Amino acid sequence: MEEYQLETLYRTRRPFSDEERALIARAYDFSMAAHEGQTRKSGEPYFGHCFEAARITTFWGLDAAVVAAALLHDIVEDTPRTLAEIKQEFGAETASLVDGVTKLGHFKFRERKDEWLDEHERAENFRKMIFALSDDLRVIFIKLADRLHNMRTLGSLPPEKQKRVALETEEVYASLAYRLGMARVAGELEDLALPYLHPADYAWLLAHVPEQLDEREAYLKGVVLELEASLRENGVPLPHIDFRAKRYSSLYKKLIRYDMDISQIYDLVAVRVIVANVEDCYKTLGLIHQLWPPLPGRFKDYIALPKPNGYQSLHTTVFCVDGRITEFQVRTIEMHEAAEYGIAAHWAYEKDKDTKSYRRRRPVFADGKDVRWVQQLRAWQEAYDTKRGGFMDSLKVDFFSDRIYVVTPKGDVIDLPQGATPIDFAYQIHSEVGDEAVGARVNGGIATLDRTLKTGDLIEILRQKGKKPSENWLEFVKTSLARDRIRDALKKRDLLDRFGLKRKK
Ligand code: MN
Repeated sequence: MEEYQLETLYRTRRPFSDEERALIARAYDFSMAAHEGQTRKSGEPYFGHCFEAARITTFWGLDAAVVAAALLHDIVEDTPRTLAEIKQEFGAETASLVDGVTKLGHFKFRERKDEWLDEHERAENFRKMIFALSDDLRVIFIKLADRLHNMRTLGSLPPEKQKRVALETEEVYASLAYRLGMARVAGELEDLALPYLHPADYAWLLAHVPEQLDEREAYLKGVVLELEASLRENGVPLPHIDFRAKRYSSLYKKLIRYDMDISQIYDLVAVRVIVANVEDCYKTLGLIHQLWPPLPGRFKDYIALPKPNGYQSLHTTVFCVDGRITEFQVRTIEMHEAAEYGIAAHWAYEKDKDTKSYRRRRPVFADGKDVRWVQQLRAWQEAYDTKRGGFMDSLKVDFFSDRIYVVTPKGDVIDLPQGATPIDFAYQIHSEVGDEAVGARVNGGIATLDRTLKTGDLIEILRQKGKKPSENWLEFVKTSLARDRIRDALKKRDLLDRFGLKRKK
């Protein structure tokens, strides 16, 4: 097919070997044949979606198994071909990636009004489950590529579906991408979701922002000339300087806090200076502060203290030419790549090393142990644990997991300890649901109340009105919440007995 050139999938940071190209070519043919005759809502061939998802993974510098799996990612769900056929044809590694992406597709995040968990908690639990289900992070990379292409083409879906997909994208996938340090991907996903989630505000932004952006950029061109002259004079090799216009989605979040007053947004456009090494970062910062006085309290050294997701840069805000407040970001090339592509960039660097050590590392990666980025996560965790708690705590749970994530019939995700049972689940929802439990359905089948649950299980509790908990539940429940509630209920019953009172039905 003319517009889907196989060769474009070979263009990546490190050239693929003949063997790797052959794998990709076979996946390309297999996918095209399997999706033959299928079209998307837009009328384009379905294969185009698989091809574009695969192309996105090549931009991130990911390996051939990922590119092949991206080509094959919708086959099990949408065609008669099976996972077994994929395994036979492409081997266990590619098949397990396809399987992972297929499984993630079964869970959908929806808006809920009748809520007992708050919206933030619901989204957080959902993200944790997605993470826990993907023991190989490459599954999430493929899912993100899939979602990115779906969002780019969201316009052709019916409005109801647009809204649901946009919400899930913002609450779950953009946020996951951000936590993996993939800021560019997270930002693009949020930008694509914004018009569907807040159409009126988006129209306001379109009417007000572009003019401001043009004016800012014209002004900053003069600023950059001055900075370049100073760098040259002081012997800092001429770095790459560009502007980073704030994304609409992040501008929008900020504007809400500033009563939509755009003149209050100093970093509408920031000057981004990319230099050769860390020493030049600090030198450049010094020169900026010599040229223009910094605003107190606005300087941030994310090189010495990276953000929890690994982001590194120096940020400063100064009274610039004509006293106009302007933000600068200074970083090295490596920091820049990592800031854009996060863990995917680390993964790509890792892969650039000699093939043998890469091969040795790869199975380890799948286990989530001991590769560089995990070590890095641990280091960041140590640096941040005491100060921030929140974010790293949740990441720790995700990676070194002793938690499971199960789903209610309405699609809410409940966070439980490893080994938890339907009774723990029931009490987590409501003490009455726990008290009245008589049985459970797990993934549609009847299960005993002491069944050990696992991540991704769909649980429904069967109840009988007025029933009281059984003492033997205490032998298998895992959560202290369930244990306490059961003991409370039993104690109440004993008291009623002792005083000869009639038990309430
Ligand atoms: Mn897809």
